[in-house]
Amino acid sequence: MGRVINVTGYYVEVIPRVIRPDVDEKEVCLDIINQITKHVDYVRKANLAYDAEAVCEFCGSIWSEDSDIYNGGCCDEDVKRKPIQEGE
Ligand SMILES: [Zn+2]
Repeated sequence: MGRVINVTGYYVEVIPRVIRPDVDEKEVCLDIINQITKHVDYVRKANLAYDAEAVCEFCGSIWSEDSDIYNGGCCDEDVKRKPIQEGE
């Protein structure tokens, strides 16, 4: 085996618990960052991070295709964007 993985640094991730469904999760995270920065020792920097997913802009379906403009026909608006294939 030639390649080995060396850990080059450690850091802490903080995932907020859901307070209420109507509370903006981003605002809660920004408040946590603010609190960490003020009250926790040994902190150099705290960052906002997020998970993301691609969805259809028209119907919100999860994006499943390689194309950036056509999602396999997930809705009427998407069907209008189907590329024209030769022989059709
Ligand atoms: Zn769609």
